[in-house]
Amino acid sequence: MVQIRVTVWGENVHERSNATVRGLYPSGMHQCIADALNAAPDITATTATLDQPDHGLPPGRLDATDVLIWWGHCAHAQVRDDIVDQVCNAVWSGMGAVFLHSAHFSKPFKRLMGTPCNLTWREAGERERLWLTSRSHPIAADLPDHFELEQEEMYGEPFGIPDPMETVFVSWFQGGEVFRSGCTWKRGAGRVFYFRPGHETYPTYHDANIQRVIANAVRWACNPAPRIPDPSAAPNVPVETALEPITERGPKLHTAGEGGFR
Ligand code: ZN
Repeated sequence: MVQIRVTVWGENVHERSNATVRGLYPSGMHQCIADALNAAPDITATTATLDQPDHGLPPGRLDATDVLIWWGHCAHAQVRDDIVDQVCNAVWSGMGAVFLHSAHFSKPFKRLMGTPCNLTWREAGERERLWLTSRSHPIAADLPDHFELEQEEMYGEPFGIPDPMETVFVSWFQGGEVFRSGCTWKRGAGRVFYFRPGHETYPTYHDANIQRVIANAVRWACNPAPRIPDPSAAPNVPVETALEPITERGPKLHTAGEGGFR
C-alpha cells in the first residue's frame, strides 16, 4: 500500500514547561498525533520540533513530506523566517498542510492566508460541540453529525480568515459563541485545512473523533502529483516562442528576456 508521508511539527514547549501538559502528553502532543496516525495502514507519520536543528525541517524533509501538520502556540515568533518560506513554497508546490488549534497565529498559516487570522477566546474548560456542516466531505468521513469535547478552550467568531473553500465543521461553546472550526483552502497547488480543537491543557488529541478528523484531513490534503519545481516563477515569454505567430508592436517598458520587477 502506498504510504502517505506525514510530518507532525510541534512547538514542544508547554509539554516540557507545564506539569498539566506534560501529564497529558508525556511524549509531546506531536508524538500523540503521530502515534494515532500511525495506527492507520495507509499513513506513516514522523515528528519534528522547534528545538531541533532547522526546527526539524532540514533540506529535503519537506520534499519527502506529503502532508505537514503544524501545532504551535507560545513560540510562533521563534520560528525562523527562512523555514517559513520553505513551508509556504512547499505548499504552493503541492504539499498538503493541516494547521491545528493555536496554529491560527503561526507564521506559515498567516502567510498562506494573508489575513490577521485573529479570533476571540476564553480558557474556561467549556464543553465544545462540533457540528458537521458538509456531510459528504472526505474530512467528515465516518463521523457523527455532531460530537463533543467535554473541556476545551473557546474560540469565537469573528475569525479573521479569508472565506474558506469549504467549511466542514462549526463549533458551539457553552458560553454561547460559535466558530468555523474546520475550514479548507487551496494555496497554489497545495491543500490547506485548519482544525480548531487542541488546547494543550486538555486531552483533545487522545479523542477518537479528533484523531479520525486529522487522519481524514491527511488523506484529503495529500496530493500525489509531482511537486511544481518553482511555484513562484514568473517567466517573461519571448515573442518568438508564442504558440501562435505574433509581431511585436507598440511601446515597451521591458527588454527581451528581462526578468521583470518583483
Ligand atoms: Zn489554546
